[in-house]
Amino acid sequence: VAGAPDRPNEFEIIARYFDRGAGAADVVVGIGDDAAVIDVREPLVVATDTLVAGVHFPDDFAADALGYRALAVNLSDLAAMGARPRWCTLALTVPAADAGWLAEFAGGLFRLADELSVTLIGGDLTRGPLTVTIQILGTVAADRLLTRGGGRPGDDVYVTGTLGDAAAGLPVSRDAEDVLGRRFAYPTPRVAAGLALGGLASAAIDVSDGLVADLGHVCEQSGCAAEIDVERLPLSEALLARFDADAAYAAALAGGDDYELCFAAPPGAAAAVAAAARASATPMTRIGSLVAGTGVRCRLRGRRYLPPATGYRHF
Ligand SMILES: [Mg+2]
Repeated sequence: VAGAPDRPNEFEIIARYFDRGAGAADVVVGIGDDAAVIDVREPLVVATDTLVAGVHFPDDFAADALGYRALAVNLSDLAAMGARPRWCTLALTVPAADAGWLAEFAGGLFRLADELSVTLIGGDLTRGPLTVTIQILGTVAADRLLTRGGGRPGDDVYVTGTLGDAAAGLPVSRDAEDVLGRRFAYPTPRVAAGLALGGLASAAIDVSDGLVADLGHVCEQSGCAAEIDVERLPLSEALLARFDADAAYAAALAGGDDYELCFAAPPGAAAAVAAAARASATPMTRIGSLVAGTGVRCRLRGRRYLPPATGYRHF
């Protein structure tokens, strides 16, 4: 049954906006069958992330940004594993089959997918409250895999990019002209950095819930503690132009949604980390160290610094 031109049915939507024909050579069966089939020759890395309207993004968030961001947050998880992203599936729930909205959503999604050579291999489309679930699949050689658990006391702790921008930008995330708003709407997944750090970093995580919370997960799984020198945190000019130092530090330490990588590496690897930063065109800043003990402690110019309440908690 054909839908009206501006109210396409499920199959028309998939054909018009999401099915782009034969894809990569490693896709044996793509969109249009009961399931996708991919040819995997290396260890497979799988992650999934759901974005719910009103929970993970404002109800009036732009469709282009939603398509981009839904894929970016999944890519970030693969980056944190040192993996190369290759395929994804999309489960999309929309309140209505709005042709203009769907075209914009697909535009944002495929812009990022094409940039990183990721193929959409299947998915599901349903009607209901706006929700986007992407499953990302990638591969990594076993000796280049990054996990949260390999850090050791004495390792240096680094972050990529700048921190705090997305949390500061959330209230203005609809403003495409606002630098901080764009940092929330269009996060940069650090895939190139993750690949460059394979075999080099001792542990890694992506900063989705806030630096202190996420570095805390590294500490737990590595069986050690971390000390952050707050004055070393990489802060953008845009953040510092809008906030005083304390508010900027708070956003950098506790604000979520940055999707930068936080990683550890032995002190002897400092030159190799600098080379990885150049090779991946990604700023990497040393912000502290792993030490014996538990938990994450912060210092500001050598004195104890209490970070604000940390970490987004869903439940
Ligand atoms: Mg993660």
